[in-house]
Order: sequence, then C-alpha cells, then structure tokens
Amino acid sequence: MLDMKWIREHAAEVQRTADLKGIKLSIAELLEADDARKKAQGETDGLRERRNKLSESIGGWMRGGNRDEAERGRAEVREINGRIGELERKLEEVLLAVENLAERVPNIVSPDTPIGQSDKDNVELKRVGEPPVFDFEWRDHMAIAELHGLVDVKRGVKTAGSRHYYLTGTGVLLHRAVQQMALDLLVERGFTPLDVPLMARAEAMKGTGFFPQGEDQTYRIAEEERYLVGTSEVPLVMFYAGEIVDVDQPIKLAAASMCFRSEVGSAGRDVHGLYRVHQFAKVEQVVICRADAEHSEAMLQEITGHAETVLRMLELPYRQMAVCTGDMSQKTYKQYDLETWMPSRGAYGETHSSSNLLDFQARRSNIRYRDEEGTLRYCHTLNNTAVASPRILIPLLENHQREDGSIHLPEALRPYMGGRAELGVP
Ligand code: AMP
Repeated sequence: MLDMKWIREHAAEVQRTADLKGIKLSIAELLEADDARKKAQGETDGLRERRNKLSESIGGWMRGGNRDEAERGRAEVREINGRIGELERKLEEVLLAVENLAERVPNIVSPDTPIGQSDKDNVELKRVGEPPVFDFEWRDHMAIAELHGLVDVKRGVKTAGSRHYYLTGTGVLLHRAVQQMALDLLVERGFTPLDVPLMARAEAMKGTGFFPQGEDQTYRIAEEERYLVGTSEVPLVMFYAGEIVDVDQPIKLAAASMCFRSEVGSAGRDVHGLYRVHQFAKVEQVVICRADAEHSEAMLQEITGHAETVLRMLELPYRQMAVCTGDMSQKTYKQYDLETWMPSRGAYGETHSSSNLLDFQARRSNIRYRDEEGTLRYCHTLNNTAVASPRILIPLLENHQREDGSIHLPEALRPYMGGRAELGVP
C-alpha cells in the first residue's frame, strides 16, 4: 500500500509534513518498526530454508542407514519449528505496529501550500463579486426561512436531536433546485453521474483516506462494520478500487448524495441555523487521472472552475482561499476553498473545497493504469464540491433578499424552480 522505500528516502520531509499537518506520528518509530519487521521476516525465511535443507538431508541419511545423523537432524527441525512459531508471533506483532503507524503517514504538500496552523492562516487568492450593501433592515437566513416557511428546526431537533432540521415546502424545492442545477452543469462538462451507496465498509473508509484520521467524524452503524459516508467522495473513488483503469482521458464522476457527519469537536460552534448540521446534501466531483503532477494540477484548476461557475450561476460573491498545511487533512496535497459571502456571519463562509491528492488515495484503494511503456502506475485523484445544501441556501437567501421580504432567484436557477423569478412576499 504505502511505499516504505519512498518514506525511508524522504523521512525528513514526511516527518515535517506530519508536523505541519498536526499529525502525531514519529517516522523514526515507523522505520524502527519496519526494521524489526524485516529482521523477523529475514530470520524466519532463513530458518525455513535451513529446515527444508535438513528435511532433504534426513531423507538421504535414512536411505544411507545413518540413523544417528537423521535423529540429530530431526531434533534440529523440532527446535527450528519452535523458533519459527515464536518468530511468526513476533512478526504478527511488528506487522500490526507498522500498519498502525503507516496508516497515519500523511501525503506531502505542494510547494505553493501556505504553512499555517488553522483556517486563520489560509491565504486569500482572489475575490469575485461584491457583497451587497443593504439600506434596509435585512434578515438572516433563519428569519427569511421563517417568513417563507422554508425550514423547521424545532421539529428537526424533536425528531433527531441537535443540528437537525426539516426543509419544508419551497425550502425543499430550492434545496433540490441548486443540486440539480449543479449536477446538470457537471454532466454537461463531461462527468458521469452515479447514484452511490451511502454506507461503506471500513476498508472503503481506509482506502479513500478517511480512516483512521476522520473516524470520529463518522457515524458507525451499530452491530455492523459499516459507516455512513460523510461525502460521496468515498463511494465515487471506491467505484474503481482494485481495478486497472483507462485514463487516456481523465475519469470524471459526479454524485448527488446525502452526507452524514458527527461534527465531533465542533460543540458550540456554528449552532445557529443551517451552517453546520449532521446531515446535508452535496453534489460532488471526483476525477481519476494519470500520475502526472502538471496534469492533475490542471484538473484541480478545472474542478475549482466548475464550483466557481456554480457560484456565478447563483450570482453570489465569493473568494478563493489557498488552504494552509494545518487546515488540510492527511490525504491532501493541495487544496483550495471557496468561501461565499454570508451577511449573517458578516464574513465569507466555506461552501466548496477542492483537493488534489496525487496518488495517496489511489495507492490505498489500489487504482492503477498502464502508462505509455506499459508500466502499472497508481492514478492521481481529485475531488471538489459542486454545491452543498442547505449551507448554500444561507448566502442564496441572504444575499438575494429584498426590502419587502421577497427573494430574487438567479436566472440560472429559474428553470429548476418552475420558471419563478423570485420567492414572492408571502
Ligand atoms: P468537505 O467535504 O468537508 O470539504 O466539505 C465540502 C462542503 O460541504 C463544505 O464546503 C460545506 O459547504 C459542506 N459541509 C461540510 N460539512 C458540513 C456540515 N456539517 N453542515 C453543512 N454543510 C457542510
């Protein structure tokens, strides 16, 4: 799975990346465990070889009537068997130690990734559009939702607990409209849509790099070794796990799915409204392509461009951020976030996240292709949000509100809202 030779040769760089990403891992400890594995493996192989030779010799001694020698040989074989048993137990132990440590090895980061501790150190690259200036008493999205009957949080909490909600009436139509608009855009741009499993095995979570680091963010289905996915990136990438694929043209997959997140560690954060919830819908883009850094960089720009198109279609002001090392996950090589202006936060809030993982995910999930020389290589994988709702409804409702309480609907969204140009004053 992981290339230990590469880790050994780049030990300092890998250790530095783990430190920068805030991952507790000692590469020295990993290499030590790997040395112990090699030693135990070498000893076991040597003993097996000696045993095979002895077995052959014992046959010869017996045929030649050399019973004493044969008996000495048998005694040595018994001793070797005991020693191999011990070594096999030791080997199992060190293999587990290597596996546990290796699972936490991070992907390297791109040279242009800003160094930093948290999202506060992300670097703004550009702004598009102007936040609106209201000359009237504007409402936040929950007040708008109440006025138009779009959301029912109280009943959501009654049914499912905190950070749950019902979308109601036109709220449902808007939620589905933004998703269908984004999915249609991706299909038009060459993506194959998949309707995906929302439960995944632990191997799928590991294979796509969400475990072990993101395990506490994931809902486990009691009594089963299955998990609710936090993003359709998991089933989209797993679609080709273990396969040799044709990436003469990059593979482009999309899904519109529900996502489930425990949001452990965010107690007390973003508790108002629809920003941070346990269940939301996301249209996701996944690209699987050749292991060529320039090519996958171009794909990163392309999928980021699709998200920007969605925001332009929704007529929303946004900015693009280069995500810093400390705000990146273990699997990420380079990441952009798009943040959309949310008047109620008085700030831009993250609505899209675009990542290039190089071959980190493909190595784990074993997705390979044959290059021009016929050599099998691991692919590069990338992913990005096309739209996530209900979070996107926050800027949509807040930025497009009018003084009388009506909401302007962007032209691109109208075909998905029965041709309506606005949500009229109720
Ligand atoms: P991620 O897959 O974590 O990069 O998130 C992609 C997008 O999903 C984010 O930019 C948000 O728009 C949305 N999102 C992530 N977590 C939540 C959440 N807990 N509640 C609502 N939307 C979320």
